Amino acid sequence: MPAPEVTGVRHGLYRDDANLLLASRVVVDMTGLTDWTWFTLTSPDRLVFDLSPAVFGGGVGHLPVGDGLVRAVRWAAHPGERVRVVLDLTRPAAHRSFRLVDPPRLVIDVDRLEVTLYSHERARLEVLPLDEYLIGVLAAEVPPTFQAEALRAQAVAARTYTLRRLRTFGGRGCSVHPGADVCSDPAHCQGYSSPERLRDSWREDYDALRGRLAAAVSDTHNLFVAYGPRPAEAVYHSTCGGHTASSAEVWGQSLPYLEGVPCEYCRISPGYRETRRLSLAEARRRLMAEFFAVKETTASGRTRRAEVAGCSFTGSELRDRLGLASTLIESVSGDLAVTTRGSGHGVGLCQWGAEGQARLGRSYREILRYYYPGTDLRGVRFVSGAGGGAPGPGKPDSPSPEGPGEPQPVVVIDPGHGGVDPGAVGPRGTYEKDVNLAVSLAAAEALTGRVEVHLTRREDETVSLRRRTDLANEKKAVLFLSVHANGSVRPEAGGTETYHFPGSRLGGLLARAVQRRLLEALRRRDRGVKEADFFVLRETICPAALAEVLFLTNPREEALLRDPGVQRKVGQALAAAVFDYLAEVR
Ligand SMILES: [Zn+2]
Ligand SMILES: [Zn+2]
Ligand SMILES: [Zn+2]
Repeated sequence: MPAPEVTGVRHGLYRDDANLLLASRVVVDMTGLTDWTWFTLTSPDRLVFDLSPAVFGGGVGHLPVGDGLVRAVRWAAHPGERVRVVLDLTRPAAHRSFRLVDPPRLVIDVDRLEVTLYSHERARLEVLPLDEYLIGVLAAEVPPTFQAEALRAQAVAARTYTLRRLRTFGGRGCSVHPGADVCSDPAHCQGYSSPERLRDSWREDYDALRGRLAAAVSDTHNLFVAYGPRPAEAVYHSTCGGHTASSAEVWGQSLPYLEGVPCEYCRISPGYRETRRLSLAEARRRLMAEFFAVKETTASGRTRRAEVAGCSFTGSELRDRLGLASTLIESVSGDLAVTTRGSGHGVGLCQWGAEGQARLGRSYREILRYYYPGTDLRGVRFVSGAGGGAPGPGKPDSPSPEGPGEPQPVVVIDPGHGGVDPGAVGPRGTYEKDVNLAVSLAAAEALTGRVEVHLTRREDETVSLRRRTDLANEKKAVLFLSVHANGSVRPEAGGTETYHFPGSRLGGLLARAVQRRLLEALRRRDRGVKEADFFVLRETICPAALAEVLFLTNPREEALLRDPGVQRKVGQALAAAVFDYLAEVR
């Protein structure tokens, strides 16, 4: 059998929202499958793949790329039925490689999770690889001499905070600096110190201290604090002073894992207790209010009424309470001393508490679970390989996203309610669960053949929400679509609306496709695409949408929803939306 031939090389960006992956993807097209080994070279950074057995008849191939990470790809035949493919990189980066069967090709994904930072130090935007950025965050946020476990906890918290803000994955970015995911202002986003600044301040300790921080970042691989499948709001502060604050009391929004926990561990913090002394004049200036003011005097110059800290006192009350010798006040001077405990907003991870716990021998996992109760650690599933220069095995080192032989994408359709749970009930006694099932079966029928469809139920049975999302996650679905009919106490309420998880870019894309197709098929009122933290939207790893097709409680719409012809039409509209979505993301 002749050796497979390299027929071409392609490049593109690969994004996986579910796993927060972003990669520069290089695809080597071939006439057959082959094995390969790889190694890295430095200055300049290169990633080298040797494909063997393989041939290439075109001399030297060259594909200019210039995507910020991959400069170019070069390939050429080498003696012994070997083809060498070289990726010229702008910096070292992790990668994964795997082959796909139909058509035969080698896929190389180079990790490009990167952060656009607004640097206050340099007053401009900078693009940094995520882990590089995190080293600078640790340097700015905690003493580099912290215990290794405390540094790891901080690394995971900072990574989580950052992932949540990445605009690439639907995050909102920094609200002050347009175009930035985060800024380097610790009071606004997270602190960040550049290598140059650290070199200046750490001097001969630079290598050792930076090494400690870099180790904390790489030791925690790509871990983030997850609540459900998504990154949690992993905020942190210097010192809580005895009990962390709930997000509700500080920002007015409550989160189950930010309700506040007792923390006796941060007593070691130099900022555990602080006394601020202000002259009364300074306090007045800062509060823009008088702290102690004589408001009215009598004819003889005695105090008739004075205000102290916003309260009004008569002269004699003042004299009594303060034990003044008279009400003839000449001047008020002196200090206002306010002693506080803790430092920072107090919500989430207490940095000095983490240090205290690390000194007690706790691991970063225990520390993170302590300050973010109810969360788990999850990994951004990029397999790190490059950087060491060691040759790697030429076998797929992670399951490929497309999979060998490219099976059809898995789509999960979820008929809402069922069994003991009827859902909404129409004025003529129509059950939502029955409508949802009929529509879902029609959708599944229209989808079959082009995708692999799974239904969370095929009959009138009780299925928990958890079982529904588990099915999607186990089957590695590419999308999850939950089918519902709406209900309202107002019979006139009507129309179509579709939900996705707040901030999910792909969820939004799917929901918009669904809404568009449903409106087209039904021509009822457009209630819009909405965001909601529904269980099935939150707990599904893949992009998900929930359609409220029409209102079962509206007599006109109930009549439509009961009609088998309309049910089929709605099912077909949902299938069309799925194809619209897949065409857009693939
Ligand atoms: Zn900011
Ligand atoms: Zn604390
Ligand atoms: Zn429902």
